[in-house]
Amino acid sequence: MLDSAEASERGKATGRVWKGGVFSPTDGTADPSRAAPAVARAIVKLGGAVVQNCAARGIETEAGKLSAVVTERGTIRTKIAILAGGAWASSFCRQHGIRFPQASIRSSILSVAAGDGDLPDALHTARVSVTRRGDGGSTLAISGRGRVDLTPQTMRFAGQFLPMFMRRWRSLSPGGSRAFGVGMRA
Ligand SMILES: Cc1cc2nc3c(=O)[nH]c(=O)nc-3n(C[C@H](O)[C@H](O)[C@H](O)COP(=O)(O)OP(=O)(O)OC[C@H]3O[C@@H](n4cnc5c(N)ncnc54)[C@H](O)[C@@H]3O)c2cc1C
Repeated sequence: MLDSAEASERGKATGRVWKGGVFSPTDGTADPSRAAPAVARAIVKLGGAVVQNCAARGIETEAGKLSAVVTERGTIRTKIAILAGGAWASSFCRQHGIRFPQASIRSSILSVAAGDGDLPDALHTARVSVTRRGDGGSTLAISGRGRVDLTPQTMRFAGQFLPMFMRRWRSLSPGGSRAFGVGMRA
C-alpha cells in the first residue's frame, strides 16, 4: 500500500497528487505473443491439434443442434464449439440467425520497441496508456479517441449502445466507413 507521497512519486508521470495507491511488482503480464504459443504447445502436448490461418466459415446443424464447423480447410464434425471471434462474433452469429448485440469501436495502439524513448513501466492517464511488454518494449494506447464507424451492425444495435455512447461521449467521436471497408457489412 502506498501513501500519498509514495503514490504521487510512483505516478509522477501523471503530474497529479494521489491520495494513495497499490504497487504490486509481482503481478503478471499476459503477453499475447508469448501466451498464445504456450497455450498452443500445451494443446498439442495434450493430444489436441491447432490449425492456424484458417477461417471458420459457418456451422452445420442436425435436428437443431450443432453437428459441424465448416472451415476454409474442411469440415470438423463436433457437437461443441466455442465462438471467440472478437469483433467478428456478432456478424458470424447473424448468418445463423443468432442475435448477438455487439458494438465495435475503432482505436489506435502503438508498439514501441525496447530502448526507444524513455517510457515509464506503466502509465494510465485520460490521454495515454503505457504498458511494459515481456520483451522490454511498450504498448502505447491513445485513450479517449475511439471512433464509432457506421456499419449495419452499428445501426442494428444502436438502441442498446446509444446510452453508453452518450455517457462516454468525451472519449468517442463519429468514425467513417473504414469498418465497412474491411468487411463489416452484415
Ligand atoms: C487499441 C486497443 C487497445 C486495447 N487495450 C486494452 C487494454 O489495455 N487492456 C485490455 O484489457 N483490453 C484492451 N483492449 C481490448 C482487448 O484487446 C479485447 O477486448 C480482447 O482482445 C478481446 O479478446 P477476444 O478473444 O474476444 O477477441 P480477439 O483478441 O480479437 O480474438 C479474436 C480472434 O478471432 C479471429 N477470428 C475472427 N473471425 C474468425 C473466423 N471466422 N475464423 C477464425 N478466426 C476468426 C481473429 O482473427 C482474432 O484472432 C484493447 C483493444 C484495442 C483495439
